[in-house]
Amino acid sequence: MASELIDRFGRHVEYLRLSVTDRCDFRCVYCMAEKMEFLPRAEVLSLEELYDVGAAFSRLGVRKIRLTGGEPLVRRDVLTLVERLGQLPVELVLTTNGSQLHTMAQDLAAAGVQRLNISLDSLQPERFARLTRTGRLTQVLDGIEAARSAGFHGVKLNSVILRGRNDDEVLALVEFARDAGLDISFIEEMPLGQITEHGRLESFCSSDELREVIDSRYPLHDSPERSGGPARYFRMADSDIRIGFISPHSHNFCSECNRVRVTVEGRLLLCLGNEHSVDLRAVLREFPGEAARLEQAIIAAMALKPEKHEFRLDDEPQILRFMNMTGG
Ligand code: SAM
Ligand code: SF4
Repeated sequence: MASELIDRFGRHVEYLRLSVTDRCDFRCVYCMAEKMEFLPRAEVLSLEELYDVGAAFSRLGVRKIRLTGGEPLVRRDVLTLVERLGQLPVELVLTTNGSQLHTMAQDLAAAGVQRLNISLDSLQPERFARLTRTGRLTQVLDGIEAARSAGFHGVKLNSVILRGRNDDEVLALVEFARDAGLDISFIEEMPLGQITEHGRLESFCSSDELREVIDSRYPLHDSPERSGGPARYFRMADSDIRIGFISPHSHNFCSECNRVRVTVEGRLLLCLGNEHSVDLRAVLREFPGEAARLEQAIIAAMALKPEKHEFRLDDEPQILRFMNMTGG
């Protein structure tokens, strides 16, 4: 079935990023403030409500659901949600900081998660601790190992690169990915939320710059492969892995956007870089069990999807919500 979700610009929405919590065991400097206030429980969708949202999108033709957060694996009983979503006719994938994978990787694969994205910004323990504020590198590396042997269809690494913080580790990260046989994507920082640790202009590192650094050591060949997302991929002659670049600043990807996000409060966000949204929690709670109402609200929301994000490269936060609220 083709997606019934088509916006004013003819884009078919086939991909839902569903945030299952705003909480996290890390406090990455580009994602969160050091002291964060999290949502009160009553404002957070229950696991049942999250399932209803996923199922409604699936009936409307969404082909892929990514569970994210916050850190999705710190939500209590998240596996019960994963098991139910795993029964839907969608590709179920998950983005994680890797801290819980050493115990959960097998169960996630068994419950129907097909692919994992694992964030990894540094291979130096002290630096990793500084960037994540609370994370332990060894635990994440153990998690990556557990994921590699758990039988997923794919495991990919994601690195946000900041000038003066970890830009000198790009080649080391590529070498780690080559040795592990895992794809890796480098992400430009996005101006979400008011952070204080660094200025976003000062820390900006463009994908083009990173590509040149990698290319000088491992010549890169443009690859036509697309994952239906914003990443542009490159390959190397002597390795099977792909190197991706996600560049909201330097390469606008909005014209191909096929995705929407739902926050854990049930806000359907039509664009990562705009505030246009629809309150699905209100529909879920006013009309419990009325799937048609939820579907109608989702279909109607498509008219609100903006043409493109308006991220500028400066130090002002352009979107006040933090990435952990957005569902990165
Ligand atoms: N906690 C999980 C994790 O870290 O993978 C999932 C949620 S996290 C918000 C999803 C992705 O967004 C991570 O790869 C993270 O590095 C990235 N991210 C967070 N804040 C960002 C920002 N301001 N700009 C670009 N990427 C960001
Ligand atoms: Fe947590 Fe992921 Fe945000 Fe880091 S990027 S603070 S791991 S939600």
